[in-house]
Amino acid sequence: MTDPAGLSTRCIHAGELDDAHGSPHTPLYTSTTFKFASTADLLDVVDGRKPGSLYTRYGLNPTIFSLETKLAALEGAEAAWAFCSGMAAETALFLTHGRKGIVCIGDAYGGTMELLAAQLPELGIPTHLLLGSELHGLEAALKTGASLVFFETPTNPTLEVLDIAKISAIAHEHGALVAVDNTFASPVNQNPLALGADFVIHSATKYLGGHSDLTAGALMGSKQLLGAVWNWRKNLGTTISPEIASLLMRSIRTLTVRVERQNATAQIVAETMARHPRVARVYYPGLPDFPGHAVARKQMRGFGGMLTLELKGGYEDAVKTTDQLKLFAIAPSLGGVESLATMPVTTTHHGVAPEERARRGIGDTMIRLSIGLEDAADLIADLEQALA
Ligand SMILES: *Cc1c(COP(=O)(O)O)cnc(C)c1O
Repeated sequence: MTDPAGLSTRCIHAGELDDAHGSPHTPLYTSTTFKFASTADLLDVVDGRKPGSLYTRYGLNPTIFSLETKLAALEGAEAAWAFCSGMAAETALFLTHGRKGIVCIGDAYGGTMELLAAQLPELGIPTHLLLGSELHGLEAALKTGASLVFFETPTNPTLEVLDIAKISAIAHEHGALVAVDNTFASPVNQNPLALGADFVIHSATKYLGGHSDLTAGALMGSKQLLGAVWNWRKNLGTTISPEIASLLMRSIRTLTVRVERQNATAQIVAETMARHPRVARVYYPGLPDFPGHAVARKQMRGFGGMLTLELKGGYEDAVKTTDQLKLFAIAPSLGGVESLATMPVTTTHHGVAPEERARRGIGDTMIRLSIGLEDAADLIADLEQALA
């Protein structure tokens, strides 16, 4: 029963609750608890016989419910849970469906890597970390009984593109579930559930929020699979707050116009930088000679607002260039209206040993760019003056 309306229409109208006063969008209900006419009415909600609001940490709050209906609609999912961060969404998913083992393919967000490499193994959860080029090892890892395959695509910061349909088919053959972190692509450019994945995760802090002013996360999937996650979110206490839910809904209403513009600007910046004499290589799925381009064309509608430049010269030259940027802010994170630049060796991959960085193809002269909504000409001029 997915919503047949186009994505922009869903961004604006899906899940919006009409209230008694004719508000065109869902009001913000800050209440932590909700009252009932009788004990029988209360028990109907507590026992799940009737939908209703009850207690905000449970997610049983009209504003959160409204956001979750919208989030599900964005990914064509039956259900969605909203969390206080992207990491909270991942943690609840891993603790619910990953306990027999998790296979991670390719690079992943720093916090995700810490969970998978250190913290979950401390709890006795086996994890297998494969490079994107080690897909041949997936079956062996699954034969150990791993219950969940997790990956990002495109990845951070090399924009590696992994084949969602192909990986999902292999995982399902071995009875494992598949979760895709769709943060970089956003629902505008890619819908992993339609390609065979079982779960989609978003750090809503990035494109869904879109203004670098809120922290939130989302998990989408079937009602049945998400049902099992509910108690973990409830008792970890990592539900989104109604205030942030309301702000996030406001942001999502403009998601398609923002991301379509970011796609277009990133493509121009990538093409221009690919011709620059000081740039050794541009990592962007929208460039026809990029290794992931063919798979990206197959599974993405747009190529996203993230790209990485690899400069000629050494680390110090790249630092100098980064420090010369005036319009791009030197900051981690991504997906906002303002353009950001970050060197992965100084932020996302700072704690990773040099040999491991080399193995993962993370260069010392890489500058990752998150393209915002400024004019393309101004962004290019800023890059050109910094490179000069
Ligand atoms: C930022 C990010 C996360 C973590 O999200 P938070 O909202 O900061 O917890 C997870 N995955 C990706 C790809 C991210 O960029």
